Amino acid sequence: MLPQEIVRKKREGGVLNAEEIQVFVNGLTDNSVTEGQVAALAMAIFFKGLTIDERIALTLAMRDSGDVLNWDGFDAPIVDKHSTGGVGDNVSLMLAPALAVCGANVPMISGRGLGHTGGTLDKLESIPGYTAKPDNELFRKVVREVGCAIIGQTANLAPADKRFYGIRDITATVESIDLITASVLSKKLSAGLQSLVLDVKWGSGAFMSSYEDAKALAESLVRVANGAGTKTTALLTDMNESLASAAGNAVEVINAVQFLDGSHIDNRLWDVTVKQGGELLANCGLAVTPEAGCDAMVKAFQSGAAAEKFGKMVAELGGPVDFMEKYELYLPKAPIEAPIYAPEDGYVTKVDARAIGLAVVELGGGRTAPEDEVDPAVGLVQVAGVGTQVNSDSPLAIVHARNEDQVKRAQAVLHKAYEIGAAGDVVQHDLIGERIAP
Ligand code: URA
Repeated sequence: MLPQEIVRKKREGGVLNAEEIQVFVNGLTDNSVTEGQVAALAMAIFFKGLTIDERIALTLAMRDSGDVLNWDGFDAPIVDKHSTGGVGDNVSLMLAPALAVCGANVPMISGRGLGHTGGTLDKLESIPGYTAKPDNELFRKVVREVGCAIIGQTANLAPADKRFYGIRDITATVESIDLITASVLSKKLSAGLQSLVLDVKWGSGAFMSSYEDAKALAESLVRVANGAGTKTTALLTDMNESLASAAGNAVEVINAVQFLDGSHIDNRLWDVTVKQGGELLANCGLAVTPEAGCDAMVKAFQSGAAAEKFGKMVAELGGPVDFMEKYELYLPKAPIEAPIYAPEDGYVTKVDARAIGLAVVELGGGRTAPEDEVDPAVGLVQVAGVGTQVNSDSPLAIVHARNEDQVKRAQAVLHKAYEIGAAGDVVQHDLIGERIAP
């Protein structure tokens, strides 16, 4: 079967069968299909689309193009979540240990920051000694003994997607819901998951800014993941402002520890974390309903058991054994902490969450090139949300910076990112939108 014939069939709007998709993905993996042919197929799919069955076949073929983790012999359900990425989104740090408390096993393979969005891996690497890339034996040991391990990718997962994504990135074919679905799920499902929950974000800081586009992506992801054999639901959540009141690396770890030990809990973060956990516990059969799952999550947090699990995971992966008690001593601190005040008093009526994420990147907390090192210490805390009153006592945020120049630049970005008006002008969006089930 010639690759150009597969491209031709899709170009004419035909439906590819699983064998044709497998042949193409084999060639994608072993490089026998040329970059031009891959680009042509991507563009044909961009315009003609893929049926759900084609998306499932593409997802499975790309998933199986590399290692697929096997958890035979593990008695607990193997679960994970995926977020489409946002600002101040440190949900994974609390979700994984709470799910472990509730009886799940969570082998969470997380990524680095991308564009204006933060990455769980970058956040965890601000903990001294934390091994984000353990060998397979240690990874499995921590999942078995603690119940959760949040790490970076070590195995050769979905190499076909890696090449496909790289070519899409330079041929204006990333923005296809059908291709995004197969790309995201091929990677996620290669971790050998039984159940999954998806946090699909919409708004100014999200990958999909419109609610309708995010909903279409969520529906596609849920249908394909379930079609591929992983029990999955999705929640649409608001990303029109930072989810946590901290955005950065070490500052988001502090925010997570304080959430877990109960000393400071951001309401929006609490709601999203508990709801996602509830969904996942129901999806994997550890709770009868998502509501019962939420109750179990609340108990896991309020009892202190989730905090204890997080501390154990950090210690088992090489971090300090007394991290939960002494995190402030261990985490890097920027030399300057400066409040940024709004140019006028009033209420936050609107935030450009993407700009908040970019302010962190500018401070050095994110990357402008893939090989860049991130500065773990910089970031924003006490980030004002929509509806917050700001004045000379109440800043837009406190910036953690290396020098005064960074403070000035962060101030300029924040002044542009925030709209200030009267209390009556505040428009609040629902934090959690629709639930998408198969
Ligand atoms: N993220 C992915 O992993 N794949 C896509 O196609 C788009 C975003």
